[in-house]
Amino acid sequence: MVRVSKYIFVTGGVLSGLGKGVTSASIGLLLKSSGYSVTAIKIDPYVNVDAGTMNPYMHGEVFVTEDGGETDLDIGHYERFLGINLSKRNNITTGKIYLTVIQKERKGDYLGQTVQIIPHVTDEIKQEIKEISLEQGADVTIVEIGGTVGDIESLPFLEAARQLFLEEGTENVMFVHVVLVPKLSVTGELKTKPAQHSIQELRRIGIQPDLIVARATVPLDREAKRKLSLHGSLPEEAILSNPDVRTVYEVPIILNNQGILNIISRKLNLPVRNFDLTPWEDFVKKFLNSSRPIKIGMIGKYTKLRDSYISIVEAVRHAATHHLLKPEFLWYESTDIEEERINPDEIINSVDGAIILPGFGKRGVEGKIMAIRALREAKKPVLGICFGLQLMVVEFARNVLGLRDAHSTEVNPSTPHPVVDLLSMQKGVVFKGGTMRLGALPIKLVRGTKAYEIYGGRETVFERHRHRYQVNPKYLSRFESAGMISSGFSPEGFPEIMELKGNSFYLGTQAHPEFKSRPLNPAPIFEAFIRATM
Ligand code: GLN
Repeated sequence: MVRVSKYIFVTGGVLSGLGKGVTSASIGLLLKSSGYSVTAIKIDPYVNVDAGTMNPYMHGEVFVTEDGGETDLDIGHYERFLGINLSKRNNITTGKIYLTVIQKERKGDYLGQTVQIIPHVTDEIKQEIKEISLEQGADVTIVEIGGTVGDIESLPFLEAARQLFLEEGTENVMFVHVVLVPKLSVTGELKTKPAQHSIQELRRIGIQPDLIVARATVPLDREAKRKLSLHGSLPEEAILSNPDVRTVYEVPIILNNQGILNIISRKLNLPVRNFDLTPWEDFVKKFLNSSRPIKIGMIGKYTKLRDSYISIVEAVRHAATHHLLKPEFLWYESTDIEEERINPDEIINSVDGAIILPGFGKRGVEGKIMAIRALREAKKPVLGICFGLQLMVVEFARNVLGLRDAHSTEVNPSTPHPVVDLLSMQKGVVFKGGTMRLGALPIKLVRGTKAYEIYGGRETVFERHRHRYQVNPKYLSRFESAGMISSGFSPEGFPEIMELKGNSFYLGTQAHPEFKSRPLNPAPIFEAFIRATM
């Protein structure tokens, strides 16, 4: 029997940032809970080949996959909701598609032809979607098209989706449109006009939505549903409300309560089998009932856009829920510490524990180091991630080992004490895109250390990486004699995890354990850190 794949395209209207990613992930979870194998693809219509070269302020966090992809943060939502690992292929961009098409043209694959957006680019898009679906053995493939309908950049992708609908058959492809329904503060009225326009725009492109998910601060009233149903040519039951919620993890439950599975099941001819959402519902209940507060200091330089660190925030939430704690995040911009608008003592007096966040480059570095010193001396629980670890090492070298001007060569290439230095395999690297040390790589743990205990006595663990610099092993013996030991090593022999004896929890990791944290399966390092703040 030939396996038939089903495709659900998720588009957005009115404005971006509506939570299409969470909607897509929620639909995926509901289908998975009905016994189907599901994968999810994010399409980003920008010309960058991947998200790796973008500033977090432009784009939010760069989510790293097992196979070393530097992807959009929605891939993180999919992994957390679906509980699976995705590949770098699951994030398609205009840059990737054009790169392939242009390489094929140069090779001569289209000899004799004029290479055009239709059919060559759209064919490439369809082929990539179908190949991913097949390769990942998906019964259902959710394809989220980033941006909003009407953007010039997204047109080839919408056209490819329209063609796929024709080619695969009407019972194998469906369209979900996520729109904003604003509520006027003066009259309290829900306004559907912007959503109506965006549905019309979608139809002009040749796509009739099968389902509307309306984001609003409140549940849609009857009148708003009636209008969207009339203008969208859809039955009222296909207009779903997605009101503001306390946690994104509630969204699958809210959509399920409105019968979304019946609509999908009817449209795609997918019978709902042995539906079981209980483990997820239990997690959400626990999340909402967690009431004991803990205050987590978040020290970084992209703190004005919270999405810059979304996987870390989620990893803290997963771990905290596990202990029935309710985390409150206190954000400290490291340049504010450096320029003395924030006193490190204020941080010490306010937080139960702090995370030194990942990052790149010089800005704010001295502020982070000032905060690290104060936290270490006050013996607060501290977790350093990637650049966070590297700066914990720099601080220790300067203030405990007395190595004045010690630094990472990333920040000061001529430091007399390069306690953090460029990885040797990075020495000849010129191109910046996709060339860091990336993806899941082994860390060999040292028996008898806290890290060894945190990971449950495993000898080797795999965590995801994204870095060019490393802790310099030449200085390790000096660190170790002063109590800061390496509890994990890379295959190349550089320290991957450092921990300070004597403090209850003072640990930095070169890897990013946040990328593997799942609601039902918190990352061990985060779990241990949260436990230390209790
Ligand atoms: N900038 C540091 C490096 O390249 C740390 C990177 C990070 O925090 N992800 O090694």
